[in-house]
Amino acid sequence: MVKWADICLPKDRGGLGIPASRRMNVALMLRWVCRILRGDGGLWLQLLEAKYLQGKPLLACPHSAGSQFWKSIQAIKDDIRLGLRFSVGNGSRTQFWLDPWLDGEPLSLRFPRLFAICEEPAILVSAAALEDRWQFAFRRSFGPEEVQEWDVLNEVVPLPVSSVYDNVSWSLSPSGEFSVNSAYQALCRVPVLSWLSPLSKAPMPLEIKIFVWQLLRDRLPSGTEVLKRHGPGNGTCPLCHVPETGTHILFSCVAAHALWCFVREALGPEWEAHDLAEFLQTRATQVGRKRRLFRLVFAAMMWTLWTTRNRMVIERVFQRHASDSFFKFLAFLQLWHPLARPRDRDQLQLYLDALLTSDQRLSVRSPSS
Ligand SMILES: [Zn+2]
Repeated sequence: MVKWADICLPKDRGGLGIPASRRMNVALMLRWVCRILRGDGGLWLQLLEAKYLQGKPLLACPHSAGSQFWKSIQAIKDDIRLGLRFSVGNGSRTQFWLDPWLDGEPLSLRFPRLFAICEEPAILVSAAALEDRWQFAFRRSFGPEEVQEWDVLNEVVPLPVSSVYDNVSWSLSPSGEFSVNSAYQALCRVPVLSWLSPLSKAPMPLEIKIFVWQLLRDRLPSGTEVLKRHGPGNGTCPLCHVPETGTHILFSCVAAHALWCFVREALGPEWEAHDLAEFLQTRATQVGRKRRLFRLVFAAMMWTLWTTRNRMVIERVFQRHASDSFFKFLAFLQLWHPLARPRDRDQLQLYLDALLTSDQRLSVRSPSS
C-alpha cells in the first residue's frame, strides 16, 4: 500500500509527480488534524467530539463515513505522524503500538512479533497499563521469540505514572507548534534520487517500473511487512531463517548473494552492493547510456530475485541450482533487449555476452552448483 503523501512526491524523490499543490492541501488539512489532537478548537471540535470521536483520540478512530470534512481528515490523518511527538501522561490519548511515543518509533516496529498477534492493535497506553505491569490480550500463546520480545518490552517500556493528559507537540518546528510550511517540507522530505526521475522512460515493461518504484519507496510486501499487517507467514526468509526485509531479499539473502557475485564477476567490481541506498548513491553520478543500461541490469536483477522469492514463499517452489536465477536474470535481459534504445543495444549485447561467458565459466568450475 502506497501512502498518498508518497504519490505526491516529485518524480526525482521517488513519487509519481502529482502537482505540489495537492501536497500543500494535505499540509493545510494536517493543521486541522493537529488541532483536533491537541483539543484546540471551539464549537466545531465539540461537534466532532460528539458525533465521531466520542472520547477516542483521533488516530485511534476507525475510518468511517461522515461529512466531507471528516472524510478528508480521516484520509490524511496518519500523515501527522511525520512530525508528531507524544509525551505520555496518563496514556489515555496515545495508542500503545502505533503512536511513536517512545524514542520516536512506534512499538509495533520495535516488537513486531508481539504486535502481529495482539488482539487490539489500537489499544491505548492507559488501557494496557495495569498498576505495576503491562497487560494485553494475544491471539495465541507465546513461542520462544515472543517470550524474548515480551521480556524486553517489560524491561524498556515505562508504565505511565502521571495523572495529567498526554500531550502532543510538533517536532518539526522549534516552537513545537504546527506550521503548514514544515508539514509541507516533511511531506516531501526524502532524498532526491537523481537517476530515478527518468525511470518512466526506462526501457522496461510497465509492471517492472511499478515494481522498481515500490522498491525505491521501500514498499515491497516482504515477510516482515506482511507480518506487520497481520498477513500470513512468520516473516522470516525460508532459506536463511532471519527476518525477511526488502534489503534481505535483494541483497543479503544467500540467493541474492549468489546473483550479485555472478554479476560482479561478469560486469566488474562496481557491481558490489550491501543495501539499496548505498548502491544507488554510488550510481547517482552516472549519466547517459551508462545510466540507462545500469537501470536495465539492476531492474532485471531485482525482478529476478523478487519473483524467485515469491515462488519460494508463496508457491513453495525452491530452486534446484543457484545458477537457475542466473538463467532467469539473463532471460529477462534478453527479453528486454529490444526495448532498449537502438544506440544502446550494442553495449547491452556486450553485457549479455560477458554475462553468458561468466555463466559458462561458473558452470565449468562447479558443475553441480
Ligand atoms: Zn534469505
